[in-house]
Amino acid sequence: MIPKDHPRYHSLVTREKLAGCARSGILSMEGLTAHGRGEAFDYLIGERTTDSARLAERIAAAILLTAHHPVISVNGNTAALAAEQIAALQKVSGAMVEVNLFHRTEERVQQIEDLLHGAGADVFSGEAERLLPLSHDRAWCRREGMYSADVVMVPLEDGDRCEALVKMGKTVIAIDLNPLSRTARSATLTIVDELTRALPGITAACKELSEPECRQLTASVDNHYLLSEAIREITLRLCHAMD
Ligand code: ATP
Ligand code: MG
Repeated sequence: MIPKDHPRYHSLVTREKLAGCARSGILSMEGLTAHGRGEAFDYLIGERTTDSARLAERIAAAILLTAHHPVISVNGNTAALAAEQIAALQKVSGAMVEVNLFHRTEERVQQIEDLLHGAGADVFSGEAERLLPLSHDRAWCRREGMYSADVVMVPLEDGDRCEALVKMGKTVIAIDLNPLSRTARSATLTIVDELTRALPGITAACKELSEPECRQLTASVDNHYLLSEAIREITLRLCHAMD
């Protein structure tokens, strides 16, 4: 039992939830360590949505709203942490939701699809093929889903696949707390924010943006600026900690 007044209550509850998902097979053991790296970077940015992340979330919403065929790619960590939030974003953005896993088994895909369904998402499933130019199992996707998407949102993505999707000519939106990762650097747009803060931020922006605002935001994508701002925030915090 985690006491409510524990200073790290939220983090501990999340860890407990993820451990449960690892025991049931939704989350891979490796996914637990990926979460740890995310937590470390969240500490460094102060466990809050920075101004530059808020801007990135608005741009992400504009990109999704103006896309022809947007797809949200969901892995074990994303499903374990934010299945309801994925469903909510799908509702307002009209994006397709498709499961894509690094540690892939048919059984895990099914488990995660069931979890997303239960949370209210409309999951695009069916026959997957080895369509992406990758030697690992994230190459598997659906021809009518991610393969033909113009915009792919990849929360907590691996750098390899992010690069492959960009090379295929897709607009890639990443959510990644590490502004130095290959994912963050190769995506078209990176939101340096914690997943469960970023998704509601994007959903709220989807509800509120007008068409001219969408046009203006999509024309303003500058990932280098957004990553530099995230690194500046981290540096500022580290400098203050030394005072
Ligand atoms: P890359 O392959 O892009 O260089 P990596 O190998 O460090 O990066 P992976 O292990 O492939 O990264 O994926 C985990 C990434 O997701 C990490 O960069 C981590 O910071 C980030 N991450 C983990 N949990 C969260 C979360 N809840 N919200 C946002 N980002 C997260
Ligand atoms: Mg990686």
